[in-house]
Amino acid sequence: MRNSLVAGNWKMNGTRAAVAELVRTVAAGMANVRAAEVVVCPPYPYLGDVGRALEGSAIKLGAQDVAKEEAGAYTGEVSAHMLADCGCRYVIVGHSERRNLYGESDALVAQKFAAARKHGLSPILCVGELLEEREAGHTESVVVRQLKAVVELNGIAAFKNAVIAYEPVWAIGTGKTATPEQAQEVHAFIRAVLRELDGAVAAGVQILYGGSVKAGNAKQLFSQTDIDGGLIGGASLDAQEFLRICEAAG
Ligand code: PEP
Repeated sequence: MRNSLVAGNWKMNGTRAAVAELVRTVAAGMANVRAAEVVVCPPYPYLGDVGRALEGSAIKLGAQDVAKEEAGAYTGEVSAHMLADCGCRYVIVGHSERRNLYGESDALVAQKFAAARKHGLSPILCVGELLEEREAGHTESVVVRQLKAVVELNGIAAFKNAVIAYEPVWAIGTGKTATPEQAQEVHAFIRAVLRELDGAVAAGVQILYGGSVKAGNAKQLFSQTDIDGGLIGGASLDAQEFLRICEAAG
């Protein structure tokens, strides 16, 4: 039996005041929500503020990205050790915006995954296909390629302390959600790929769906057998909407 998990990816949004208000409202509202696990991923400069606001709350802190390097002369980068030191428990790696806007390769994502685990952070590994890849019938081969890069470097056992987020790129921030059946099909496929390597790991790993999840479609998506919650972008910036999504996963 897997716990459900909902993670909010706030991306590069907000001000210090707006983020403080958002986390305060989400934390206060969470008292009435029966969701197994909730994570929020603010922008780096606000991690400290949000971490302090979450003290005493069951909501966990996550980051949106991490460096593959340990420490040193890497201007602009933030290490896994620093994130753990700031109270992060999770970190998103391989988000499609990092892959497609900043050219992150499968190999780099695998190294970031390794760096996160080394410092006790649970990576939330994003995988998913572009629209043209889906239309060309390449969804499965893209997802396998992205997963294999991580497994080859980290081993299948690394997924005992990791989360996978299936995020079809064509559904991110577009308002086009994959149907529950489309999403379930890929989630089941991901689990089957992992099962070939380790049955227990495949059965235990949480696989989140991401891509225009809202309060109105969350319940149907989360009721699918292999969908264990969601990675939420835009809707996580609205506290009430996010709380309703968490409730749907509860
Ligand atoms: C995301 O960026 O991970 C995401 C799922 O965004 P949205 O919910 O806005 O589609």
